[in-house]
This record gives sequence, C-alpha cells and structure tokens, in this order.
Amino acid sequence: MEITKILVIGAGTMGNGIAHVFAQHGFDVVMSDISEAALKNALATIEKNMSRQIAKGKLTENEKSSALARISTTTDFSSASDAQLAIEAATENKELKFNLFKQIDELINKDAILASNTSTISITEIASKTFRPEKVIGMHFMNPVQMMKLVEIIRGLATSDYVFHSVYELSKKIDKIPVEANDYPGFIANRILMPLINEAIFALMEGVGTVQAIDEVAKLGFSHPMGPLMLADLIGLDTTLSIMEVLHKDLGDPRFRPAPLLRKLVAAGYLGRKSGNGFYNYSGEMPLPNKF
Ligand code: NAD
Repeated sequence: MEITKILVIGAGTMGNGIAHVFAQHGFDVVMSDISEAALKNALATIEKNMSRQIAKGKLTENEKSSALARISTTTDFSSASDAQLAIEAATENKELKFNLFKQIDELINKDAILASNTSTISITEIASKTFRPEKVIGMHFMNPVQMMKLVEIIRGLATSDYVFHSVYELSKKIDKIPVEANDYPGFIANRILMPLINEAIFALMEGVGTVQAIDEVAKLGFSHPMGPLMLADLIGLDTTLSIMEVLHKDLGDPRFRPAPLLRKLVAAGYLGRKSGNGFYNYSGEMPLPNKF
C-alpha cells in the first residue's frame, strides 16, 4: 500500500513539525486537534518555520506555497478516514492516548498504519487498545522536527515486519535517519536524556548552580548545543514531568523520581516556551519565578 496521505493527531509542539516535514516532502497532510486555537497556531508556526528555511536557502517560495497547500486542518479526524498512516502526537498522558487509539482504530480505514509519537509510553500497551496491534508502531520524532534528523522507530510486541519496514523506509523519504529502539519506557532517547534533565533540575533546586551556570557547564563542558534547562523549556515542562513519571512508575527505580521543583513549576503553569515562561522568560505574561 502506497502512503500518500497522513493524518496527524495533535497539533502542538510536535504535531506541527511532523505535518511540516511530511507536507514539505510531497505528502497530503490532515492536521487535527481538539482545539481550533492549536490548529491556528500550528499553521502560523509552520508558515514561520518555512520562511526561516527560505532565508537559509533550504526551501524556495514555490516549495513553501505547495507544501502549505497540501496541509488541511480539522477538529474531527473521521474526515481523514482514508489516510494510509495516522501519527498521534497528542498530550503525553496514558489514558488520553489509550482512548484516542480506540477512536482512531474505529474511525480510520482498517489497512492504515497507526503510529504514536509518544516519548515513553509502551507501544505494546497502546497497540493492545486496538483491534490491529500488528499495525501499531512508535515513530518518535525529535524536537524541532523540521531540523532534527533522528526518528526512533519502536515495534510493539505484535508489530508486523511489513509495518516496521514500511515506516522505516518512509522515514528515509522525509529525509530522516531512522533508528530502531526496543519497547521499554523512554525507548533509547528519553531513557538517557530525561535523567540528565531531571538531575539538572535537582542541581538547581539544591543550589549547586544557577540556571545560567548549569546550562553553561553543559554547553562548554560537554559540547551540548543547548543546556538541559533550556532544553526542558523547549520540550515543555509538563511533557518532561509526564515522561519522568512514566519512567519512574514503569521502571520502578527511585533514580527516576521527578524533581520536586519540576512538579512545582508545572503546578504553577510554568510550562517553558509554550506558556512563555519556564526556567527562562520568553516574553510571556507570567512573572518570572522569583526563586527556584
Ligand atoms: P503539546 O502540549 O505541545 O501539544 C499537544 C496537543 O495535543 C495540544 O495541541 C492538544 O490540544 C492536543 N490534544 C490533546 N488531546 C487531544 C485529543 N484527544 N485529540 C487531538 N488532539 C489532542 O505536546 P507536544 O510536546 O507536541 O507532545 C506531543 C507528543 O509528542 C507527546 O506524546 C510527547 O511526549 C511527544 N514528544 C514531545 C517532544 C517534545 O520535545 N515536546 C519530543 C518528542 C515527542
């Protein structure tokens, strides 16, 4: 089955990037979300990011307009029931994803492949909520999707070889480099990255260093392009907390307990870039936290 039409469910930080990349590579994309405002923001973000690519000589004006013309939006994804691939990129929450996969399974044609962009939730468990576990797979893109080459491909226990190879080859067609990861909490990327970010938040909480000092040490000392606290703001502090909670619960090891400061910031609505404020200020309306 040739894949030409992609349904992207969830149009937040990751969903808009996934839609961007597929449209840029000639696929028809339907982007769906429960929020009209999120869809509007997503289209504006894609437009802005494509203009940046033009400024860098990576895209032409014509390619931009053709790509944008291939993206449509909806709050009712049943209108895209003929898509050959659905990629779910909704909020990182187990129950939400389980319910969503039940709905997607009911509404999207029976031959379609169903992928999740989850950061850490078991693909096997998600697949078990559907009547087509052999067609469910993890497709874990990195943020920002239009810039990062890696996509982790995760087989659930029942994922067929055919589905795995289709998704692996498809990733190359959109100019990504696929890497296979086994279905354990956090897969490869977040199993390694998240404890680093969480430890940086503990270090901040305990006064080992300031936000700037911690990020400078990672940049100058480890040659990381961005410090862990700035990266947490980019990922979203709510998403970071959800990932740590799944790692902690599903691996059962206390070394994955989320830093209390992370919980405090999320509880207060400091979610990083998307809310305008986190460890850094992004000209949001909320005041900067006066004490970490
Ligand atoms: P986000 O908070 O930026 O966006 C989530 C979007 O999902 C929101 O627009 C919300 O309205 C929408 N949504 C919620 N419930 C929905 C539903 N039932 N149907 C349709 N849309 C719904 O989150 P994000 O950072 O884009 O994360 C999305 C997924 O990608 C998560 O599983 C996350 O773990 C994963 N992920 C995130 C990153 C990152 O750096 N942020 C990186 C890789 C993977």
